[in-house]
Amino acid sequence: MKEKIVSIENVSFTYENKKVLENIYFTIPKGSFVGLIGPNGGGKTTLIKLILGLEKPDTGSIKLFGEPMNRFSAWNKIGYVSQKANTFNKGFPATVFEVVSMGLTAKIGYLKFFTRKHKEKIHQALQQVDMEAYVYENIGNLSGGQQQRIFIARSLVSDPELLILDEPTVGVDHKNVQRFYDLLDQLNLKQGITMLMVTHDTGTITEQATHIACLNKTLYFHGKRAEYKSLTEKDLSQLYGHQVNIVKHDH
Ligand code: ADP
Repeated sequence: MKEKIVSIENVSFTYENKKVLENIYFTIPKGSFVGLIGPNGGGKTTLIKLILGLEKPDTGSIKLFGEPMNRFSAWNKIGYVSQKANTFNKGFPATVFEVVSMGLTAKIGYLKFFTRKHKEKIHQALQQVDMEAYVYENIGNLSGGQQQRIFIARSLVSDPELLILDEPTVGVDHKNVQRFYDLLDQLNLKQGITMLMVTHDTGTITEQATHIACLNKTLYFHGKRAEYKSLTEKDLSQLYGHQVNIVKHDH
């Protein structure tokens, strides 16, 4: 059986007195690209916070790389690109090099000097996202899509085996979205990085991901892409709680 990078069993979670996740069973197999979709307020970000250990479940258990959460310490294996990453304004006083180097501070500590090896690592991560030419550019001068590539490079410097992305295409202009997906595909297929991506872009994700998970307090669907695509409009309307028209993207 394929190794499980994340396994969640019977997890529930409540904010103050509002239950937002209920009886969640969810696994992420090694090498998969999981698209996490569902309506606003459905609990996607909360589920990610639980996986990152930022919140603790009321019940149930979470294992990361086969280890129970309370014994897991190899956090460098998990890279995270948040939805709020995309907020550097024009004039923000940091270069691309400096932003990517922040991904190494967990490893080497703040204000320590970078060795040649660290610098190589930063250049290599920028090469992976095709942004090496911008290494000394100010981050605020880049477009939304370019900034998002830089945030991915920042998480790549610690050699993650799982990359978690929370709505990474927000702020990426329409014509660069496919290029962004191609980059994620490359990281998944060529470098074997397992992906968990939250998105509202249900059209594209159902073409790109290997697995789809639909969350609306409970996990309504979790399975392979082909199984998701065979769901009917009625099934999906139940998930979203309102009428859904399926838009097919046949290429
Ligand atoms: P999604 O990412 O699917 O939009 P969230 O996980 O952000 O959903 O939110 C799930 C529910 O939990 C929402 O109803 C939201 O208002 C609520 N919520 C999120 N964060 C908090 C918080 N820190 N305190 C209280 N309620 C919260």
